[in-house]
Amino acid sequence: MLDADFFRRWLIMSTALVDQEAGRLTELDSAIGDADHGSNLQRGFAAVTAALERETPATPGAVLVLAGKELIATVGGASGPLYGTLLRRAGKALGDAPEVTPEQFADALRAGVAAVAQLGGAKPGDKTMLDALEPAVAALEDTTASFAAARDAAEKGAQGTTPLQARKGRASYLGERSIGHQDPGATSSALLVAALAEMVE
Ligand code: ADP
Ligand code: MG
Repeated sequence: MLDADFFRRWLIMSTALVDQEAGRLTELDSAIGDADHGSNLQRGFAAVTAALERETPATPGAVLVLAGKELIATVGGASGPLYGTLLRRAGKALGDAPEVTPEQFADALRAGVAAVAQLGGAKPGDKTMLDALEPAVAALEDTTASFAAARDAAEKGAQGTTPLQARKGRASYLGERSIGHQDPGATSSALLVAALAEMVE
């Protein structure tokens, strides 16, 4: 079973990985965007970690809803509302249960990913964060919630964005010139899923 502390530690681990990889995320965003994805997420996740320390939410759902709210409030770029929606929607799907199974968490993430697709209007193949999130959730569903399988699927999905032409977000303004670069948001999504796998290893 996964309790509030598991989700808090997941987000703190994500904050550490985002800090570690911020330079790379911003570099990817400088190729096909406006060079702020690393700093956007650093600011957002620092706020998430601070809020979790300040408020100590008691359930998995409350942890995710609080984190989503902080991302929406602190990240100016497109990724803030999108990641915020992912976590908030997943948190709402978990309700107020004190502990959840990995399968319930996978179902909640499925709801979160659907909300991201609805908000941003993107589909897999459009060269966005969904190209990592969608295969990660599919892997959780196919493997009775193996976080390691999700990590591998997300990483493969992120790498698979390189040959794609962006159809959503700032990178889409580049048209064919977006081809040949890995999507920053898919790359950060793979990091968040990698943090999840690290939690159970
Ligand atoms: P901005 O593009 O506003 O500067 P960021 O640089 O923080 O915001 O985030 C860019 C990332 O957001 C992209 O690499 C992409 O993965 C994701 N993104 C942008 N638009 C969408 C969308 N409509 N749907 C899903 N993801 C999107
Ligand atoms: Mg950007």
